[in-house]
Amino acid sequence: MQLKDVGEFNFIRQIQDNTIYDSSTVVYGIGDDCAVYSAAPDMDQLISTDTMVEGVHFSFHYMMPYDIGYRLMTANLSDIAAMGGNPKQIVLSVAAPQHIDTEILDEIYRGIKAQCQRYKLNILGGDTVRTEGPMVWTVTIIGEVPKGTAVMRSGAQVGDVVGITNYVGYAATGLGALSYNLAGYDMTKIGHQRPDPQIELGEQLRQLGVHSMNDISDGLGSELNEIASASNVSILVEESAIPLHEETYALAKHLQTKPVDYALYGGEDFQLVFTAPKSLVPKLENLAGITLIGEVVTGPPKVEMVTQDRTIKTIEAKGYNHFHES
Ligand code: ADP
Ligand code: MG
Repeated sequence: MQLKDVGEFNFIRQIQDNTIYDSSTVVYGIGDDCAVYSAAPDMDQLISTDTMVEGVHFSFHYMMPYDIGYRLMTANLSDIAAMGGNPKQIVLSVAAPQHIDTEILDEIYRGIKAQCQRYKLNILGGDTVRTEGPMVWTVTIIGEVPKGTAVMRSGAQVGDVVGITNYVGYAATGLGALSYNLAGYDMTKIGHQRPDPQIELGEQLRQLGVHSMNDISDGLGSELNEIASASNVSILVEESAIPLHEETYALAKHLQTKPVDYALYGGEDFQLVFTAPKSLVPKLENLAGITLIGEVVTGPPKVEMVTQDRTIKTIEAKGYNHFHES
């Protein structure tokens, strides 16, 4: 059935089921002019928004509707993770053409709700509008951190170590394998289609007392440059220390590209990059999924990499969009 046959009112009624996953903060959810929620007095509130436009950020040609919803949530959750926060509420708005099959919308909602259930995140409301143009989905997310503890990009200090979570270049490897229609590459293909945010590690890193943090949505090169400029420091990383998955090495060999370029310029890994005082190194080494890749040094804001052949290369802030041109 198409949206115009169901009608916006009935559509909202349909999606209203399974929207509350932690009722302890909800006074009133979907159904009035505003939702009402309560915030804990000892917490700072985090708020962020993210939009995905059909044809720009996603396409039904190469993405399943469920995955579109899942990824939309991951992009939002990742921003909360990057502050060391705990996600609590979302509102979401959708602009959809009249002729859209409501099964597609339901599938996108299924992907959204899977992430909400996993992170005990409530859907407190939204807006449903018609459009003549491409579909647009916007999620606004609210999270929290104990007062005064949000981890900023601007906190990096000279002498800090630089670390990242899990693998980088992972989603770009999956995307590459999919776009060249290659068999195999099963782990990174999933990494591209259903990336997960690093909420747990983000919170653990905040609790340990890291100085700065950013999520990796546009490639490691771009995110490191954001920390360097916001903190007014230089960052030096070791190419050989950057953790790449074996499928990244395999794809780079197959396509005769450089493995590290997937990490530096490939997008949408939704991992975290952070800087931390050297005193935390033993604790960081005890955390599963953390790799130290460099250090914060004096100098103007820039990012440099010691390559495998021991030369120093400046890493530009070019991100995801330039990846395929390099
Ligand atoms: P209003 O006209 O007061 O803005 P709406 O008719 O747009 O109210 O929405 C009615 C209720 O449904 C509100 O609580 C709103 O937050 C919720 N809602 C509308 N669209 C969505 C959506 N796409 N997802 C979740 N909740 C929605
Ligand atoms: Mg409305």
